[in-house]
Amino acid sequence: MEENEKKNPRVLYIALAISLAIISVVIIAATVAKRNSTTPPIDNGGDINAGANSDTLPDFSMPVSGDLAIDFSDSVPVFSQTMNDYRTHLGIDISSELGAPVACVADGVVTNVWNDPFMGTSVSIEHAGNAVSIYKNLDSEVAEGIVIGASVKKGDIIGAVGETAMNELAEEPHLHYEMKINGKHVDPKEHLPIPAPKPEGEGNANGENGTTNEGSANGGASGTNNGASTENKQ
Ligand SMILES: [Zn+2]
Repeated sequence: MEENEKKNPRVLYIALAISLAIISVVIIAATVAKRNSTTPPIDNGGDINAGANSDTLPDFSMPVSGDLAIDFSDSVPVFSQTMNDYRTHLGIDISSELGAPVACVADGVVTNVWNDPFMGTSVSIEHAGNAVSIYKNLDSEVAEGIVIGASVKKGDIIGAVGETAMNELAEEPHLHYEMKINGKHVDPKEHLPIPAPKPEGEGNANGENGTTNEGSANGGASGTNNGASTENKQ
């Protein structure tokens, strides 16, 4: 009898332990099953995010009015007058006048204001869609209120075209403008409403075929009156 009485509680404990084990196995199995069932949506989630980024990109405006002077080139080096060599160019140079106001291309937040030893006074602004615009070769004095963390609106003046970029000093006055999306430099021309390029697309360096002024004037009709004359500086 005593043994039975002793056994019963033991049996109970064992039964309890087994049922606990079963319950935890069931819970683990359920968790794993849930995880498995959520795996495919994670893949789709990636695609959805990628789409959302491009969907939420703001509608960009031009930072200065002017023509494209030096094109974006992240792979094929282009000739630098200043450095007398060929190098990649991770932005575009928009020819302008010294002191011309530089406007923010979209709403955003100032993420940095700095003096780059080669590219001069620089400002970076983060926009929706994980886009960042970077303005270089600005005048050494940026506009009032342009400090890290400041909110800016599209069209707000952030500074003026300067000649602070040692690397691009030999060029005519211009704004050096870069754009990053998801941390990677992109060709700003794909996002800015830049005036139509000069008709001869191949010869940026040899822009001496001076008979094409009509073409560019027609193409850019709205705001490019001053553009054609700045072409042959040297
Ligand atoms: Zn440049």
